[in-house]
Amino acid sequence: MIRAVWFLILLALISLGAALVADNPGAVSLQWLGYKVDTSIGVLFAGIFFISICLAIVFRVWFFFRNAPKRIGKVRRDWRRDRGYKALTQGMVAVAAGDAQEARRQARKAENLLAEPPLTMLLSAQAAQLSGDEKAAGKFFEKMAERKDTKYLGIHGMLNQAIQEGDKDVALDLAEQAIELKPKTDNVSRALFDLQVQSGNLEEAEETIRKAVKDKLIDNDTGRRRRAVILYQRSVEAEGDGKLNDALNFARKANNLVPGFVPAAVRTSRLLQQAGKRRKAASVIEEIWVTNPHPQLAEVMAELSSGGGEQEKMRTIEKLANYNKDHVESHVAIAKAALVAGMWQEAREHLEAIADLNSAEIPSARICRYMAELEEGENSDIEASREWLKKAAIAEPDSAWNCSSCGQVMAEWEPVCNHCETFDTLEWRTPPRVTRLAPVDLPAENTGEELGETIDMEPEQEIDAGAPPSDETTKH
Ligand SMILES: [Zn+2]
Repeated sequence: MIRAVWFLILLALISLGAALVADNPGAVSLQWLGYKVDTSIGVLFAGIFFISICLAIVFRVWFFFRNAPKRIGKVRRDWRRDRGYKALTQGMVAVAAGDAQEARRQARKAENLLAEPPLTMLLSAQAAQLSGDEKAAGKFFEKMAERKDTKYLGIHGMLNQAIQEGDKDVALDLAEQAIELKPKTDNVSRALFDLQVQSGNLEEAEETIRKAVKDKLIDNDTGRRRRAVILYQRSVEAEGDGKLNDALNFARKANNLVPGFVPAAVRTSRLLQQAGKRRKAASVIEEIWVTNPHPQLAEVMAELSSGGGEQEKMRTIEKLANYNKDHVESHVAIAKAALVAGMWQEAREHLEAIADLNSAEIPSARICRYMAELEEGENSDIEASREWLKKAAIAEPDSAWNCSSCGQVMAEWEPVCNHCETFDTLEWRTPPRVTRLAPVDLPAENTGEELGETIDMEPEQEIDAGAPPSDETTKH
């Protein structure tokens, strides 16, 4: 709008000027290099205007040719960059799709077209890894680690390689470097922690957990649980070194950090007992029994009985059970102690109470075994006892410490699974049942119905089963 107004004003001024010149033609006389020109002022202005236009055109043409090489170079560079990025994108798509050959081809193309090593090196490394060439990938990661802008990516790639190859010392060193560059990286913090635990650097591992909680990489509860597990392990090591005071302190700390942590309570109680503090040892067990009763706690309590007699042990267990009277583990603990003490009436009372609590047709394996013991002990009824043992064979297997990562069953709880080396994966639960397929060479008419038959197995046989866990799962 403003431009239009200015244009109109300019047009008015030009018309005004032209009218002025037409009304007053005047006379101009020029004498230069022996030439003499006589003309009017209007022709002079027209001449100056014409010459100006010619000069502007000449200047424009000259400018165009002068900048031509620069412009051609820019067009070429833009073209290369566009094609480079396209190759990079296609390479990444190929990596995601698992197409190793295409990924390598696009990586080479992108490398030729783009002058941006950080992007192309990562793609080249990923493409090499995809085609199984870890050595080539390693070289790319090393190159990346040398550059400031790709140092972290390079170290991270090398760290993953070292973990895969099982080279723990190198991995630990790389994880420390990576966490220094990026302290708030979740997966590196976890990898560093696992490596510290595996290499026995428990103090550093505890520090890594504190930092992870501070940086909000893990929540408070997870942090407390992991620290408790580490403290448990430190207690085991201190005991091994003969430092009983330290062992007790670590165990106590673990027990206080996670109040329902059965292995820590068992450990604290046993160490207190060794230190001659029987009453304190008992109170640790009583305290946890309120929230988390467990057969191993009852075993420790029986050992803490003031007299050595079986009936005294039974009374001690009875007192413990009072802290969580209606819980099935309370009844089981009393029944078990009563059977050992030959107190048949009490044993039957509590085994019947368990049957009332349990809605399943057949009680769990251990209850069937206790019933068999009772029938034999109380009534010498061998036939009834045998029936219970048969039931035990097909009943729900007893709970045990199961690794949630690999399914390994262990007699004792350990901070790290001794099979898959994963940290804190042992849970107290019923071992999974196994679904076994019928052999393939069965006659055709039999296979249809027998395929997929569920077979109940003895707990010992189910040790390596990888089937999903059953309902009764608790982390103690
Ligand atoms: Zn495992």
